[in-house]
Amino acid sequence: MIQRSLVLMKPDAVKRGIVGEILHRFERSGLKMIAVKLVQADENLASRHYPDSDEWKTKVGQRTLDDCEKYGIDVMANMGTKDPLEVGGIVKKWNMEFLMSGPVLAIVFEGVNAIERVRSLVGDTVPTKASAGTIRGDFSLDSAIAANRRGRTIYNLIHASGSEDEAKDEILMWFKEEPMISYKRVHDDLYSY
Ligand code: ADP
Repeated sequence: MIQRSLVLMKPDAVKRGIVGEILHRFERSGLKMIAVKLVQADENLASRHYPDSDEWKTKVGQRTLDDCEKYGIDVMANMGTKDPLEVGGIVKKWNMEFLMSGPVLAIVFEGVNAIERVRSLVGDTVPTKASAGTIRGDFSLDSAIAANRRGRTIYNLIHASGSEDEAKDEILMWFKEEPMISYKRVHDDLYSY
């Protein structure tokens, strides 16, 4: 199934100068880039990019609370609340601040099962948990605990769409009506998609 996925190389990837190395990993896997641009996100774009749903906030908030418990961190001292929804809201604010803190390289990749393929190349959300060989596992050693202690988001280099619906919304959000470029890579003929 040919899919499209939105990938953002976040400001940590751009500022560290590892955009080329990361791009190489996607490129050599056979994924085809069909749109690319460097963007300085404003508050409107950053806010739309991170969902405002209670479901997302609760998921992220609960993960933070679990990590705090596991590592013996005082949640109240760090976050000022023990409510997963409120904690998730704080993480959303941190995400927005970070996304706006510098340029982001936005890319649309196309390929067979692109959504899942991209996510598997990227690795776990928390770099200290990401497998070696994945982008986050190889290029970052950040953790939720280190991030939360400093009142910031996890620096994990990449955003990648989580589903086809998400990809559709995100591509429209970041590229509006801009055209996607259609062309053939050697892979297309070699593997006859
Ligand atoms: P992913 O980016 O892997 O799809 P999520 O959608 O769950 O992960 O979270 C979005 C972003 O929020 C993550 O990439 C990360 O930068 C940040 N984040 C997630 N959980 C936490 C947390 N517990 N503390 C700080 N930042 C977090």
